[in-house]
Amino acid sequence: MPSAIPGIHHVTAIASDPGRNHDFYTRTLGLRMVKRSVNQDDVSVYHLFYGDRGGSPGTSMTFFPYTDARPGRVGAGQVSMTQFLVPEGSVDYWVDRLADEGVDADEPVERFGDTVIPFRDPDGLPLELVARADAPDGDPPEGPVPAEHAVRGFFGVALTLQTAEPTAGLLEEMGFDAVEGEGDRQRFRADGDLGYVVDLLEEPQAPRGQPGAGTVHHVAFQVTEEEQAEWREVLLDRGLRPTEIIDRKWFKSVYARTSGGVLFEFATKSPGYTVDEDLESLGERLVLPEWLEDRRDEIEAGLPDLDAN
Ligand code: ZN
Repeated sequence: MPSAIPGIHHVTAIASDPGRNHDFYTRTLGLRMVKRSVNQDDVSVYHLFYGDRGGSPGTSMTFFPYTDARPGRVGAGQVSMTQFLVPEGSVDYWVDRLADEGVDADEPVERFGDTVIPFRDPDGLPLELVARADAPDGDPPEGPVPAEHAVRGFFGVALTLQTAEPTAGLLEEMGFDAVEGEGDRQRFRADGDLGYVVDLLEEPQAPRGQPGAGTVHHVAFQVTEEEQAEWREVLLDRGLRPTEIIDRKWFKSVYARTSGGVLFEFATKSPGYTVDEDLESLGERLVLPEWLEDRRDEIEAGLPDLDAN
């Protein structure tokens, strides 16, 4: 058995307007754009990565913003909630900030002893800020949110499933232990200090989710390069159909759709987002894989201006 997975590596979602997406995640939430690239299957669409100063594993939220994307529907077989970790004393700051920014947010609620602020991004993507005393100091970027209140990275995700069982078994094999439950929510916890929670929301009658703007495409978990092939074997042994190991330049990836319908990725912690750019200038320039470099002018001309608004 490969060693236990410490937590989430990244979460990838679909958005519509790229400029609005960029403004929300960098200015409103205060994350740093750590990589500006393109969808390798459709180079007229960005692939934008937001995270802490260096985009450490457990901090990066990534988007494919399709300007004309139709809204999706959050439902069964999807990551239905993405949760960010903030310090315990930051609840009032964030309630005020989200209100000042006109964000679609709810009143804070208590869950398993933590204060949670539910809100939606401009495409309606469901998000939560979870305030905890054990939030690590981390490496927050310079920006509009003071470091003491900055988003530290992920707390976790929730998956909506018609049947929780096969996914629960996989999570336990991955190193997430069932720790507490309440109603339809069963919480699984890994040993890391970011992205260490997966909540399973079992809703037998929930309609299947529809992909589109405001929905999550997949959740990636952190593995080591040495153990990635072993994880692939674990997935095969469970009757899933993992992809081959794919080189994404900033990490290597194996993808598998779980029995509950959610797409999982197993991504390596290394080499990370500084493999092709200096830490100081991360995200400033469009980064392309080598095989697209000779089309750079054409590709740049076909992409919207992110910094216009
Ligand atoms: Zn991914």
